[in-house]
Amino acid sequence: MNHPTDVPMPPRIAHLPRDKHQRPVPWFVAWVDGVPDFRVIAAGKLDDAIRFRCCWLCGDPLGANAAFVIGPMCAINRVSAEPPSHRDCADYAARACPFLTTPNMRRRDSQLPDGAVEPDGIMLRRNPGVALVWVSRTWRLQPQLGLWTVGDPTETRWYAEGRPATRTEVLASIASGLPLLRAEAEKDQRPAAALAELDAQHARALELVPA
Ligand SMILES: [Zn+2]
Repeated sequence: MNHPTDVPMPPRIAHLPRDKHQRPVPWFVAWVDGVPDFRVIAAGKLDDAIRFRCCWLCGDPLGANAAFVIGPMCAINRVSAEPPSHRDCADYAARACPFLTTPNMRRRDSQLPDGAVEPDGIMLRRNPGVALVWVSRTWRLQPQLGLWTVGDPTETRWYAEGRPATRTEVLASIASGLPLLRAEAEKDQRPAAALAELDAQHARALELVPA
């Protein structure tokens, strides 16, 4: 695993404030008593990212392309639980530190500043090595779910432990997520249709796996 300061930083990341280990502190991170808590999303940042279309990691405005750092399961169902970032910023996050990504978010009741949201890393904990940078020109917030639907990718970049992931690693990570998605589909009101849809999504994801 890379140390965050060993990975070349794009200029927008290099300009971020640093913690005591000289790690850049992403824009969304909450500061508590002058110390960044990388697990915690600062109050208001989620709303600001949506309203002002700013990069989740550096806070600057996004361009036409945006990138999502997602887990392999999200490559199947094409949803992200966090807002988009610049391609370079997302690439840095995927290479430098899995904790810079927040694959799932939920509220926690205690010990957090008012309005803070705790990132929940279930997906990356399950697949600790594999992260995917999904670059796309289209994405859509589903406000009632708190999720982003991501459109067809213009580029996908798979990483494991800070380096490009091998085909074997990517296939293993996708396979490990499939039973969970299958169990969800079986609970659907129309399970046969949901399972058929999942099979199609799975086949579509496999086309993105590096050779
Ligand atoms: Zn950025």
